[in-house]
Amino acid sequence: MSGAAAAFVDRDGVLNELVPDPVSGLPESPLRAADVALVPGAAGALRRLVEAGWRLIGVSNQPAAAKGAVSLAELVAVQDRVAELLAGEGVVFDDFQLCLHHPEGVVPDLARSCECRKPAPGMLLTASERLRLDLSRSWMIGDTDADVAAGRAAGCATILVEYRGSAHKRSGLAEPDHVAGDLASATEIVLRSKE
Ligand SMILES: [Mg+2]
Ligand SMILES: [Zn+2]
Repeated sequence: MSGAAAAFVDRDGVLNELVPDPVSGLPESPLRAADVALVPGAAGALRRLVEAGWRLIGVSNQPAAAKGAVSLAELVAVQDRVAELLAGEGVVFDDFQLCLHHPEGVVPDLARSCECRKPAPGMLLTASERLRLDLSRSWMIGDTDADVAAGRAAGCATILVEYRGSAHKRSGLAEPDHVAGDLASATEIVLRSKE
């Protein structure tokens, strides 16, 4: 089997900045389109990956609608805004998958366990089938333990991005293949691996 190599990229804390949760004060996913801001250097890094021949796949857990915190339409508007800002910088993803579920959610249909919520590898496996990817030559880049676990479970190499705002979602026990400060640095690692 010789499929294409992909860079699976988490969204919040990798592509776009987190924003303080109004209740907990902890940095969390933006829940309003107006709050979306790209991480500096992220778009340029993605362009380099595409130029070097990598397929770009977004894989993001978005449980806020399942929890009743926002409507599904608001979540979609946030995702559209991320895509719009990236497109403005010349970046278009080959596929972008969201897991909208949460096992302890309150909204029917979305409140359930599933095979797509990271740390499960479902979104990576689905994209792999759809786009005929070679998972063993692919990378998962994300800022939480769950991203690393999903990448490992799918058979990809993994890079943990140590985004400042999401330190509370990293235990130090995730065992990624590499650690990077941001997506731009992670991209250097991926590009070097091909030389
Ligand atoms: Mg993240
Ligand atoms: Zn799911």
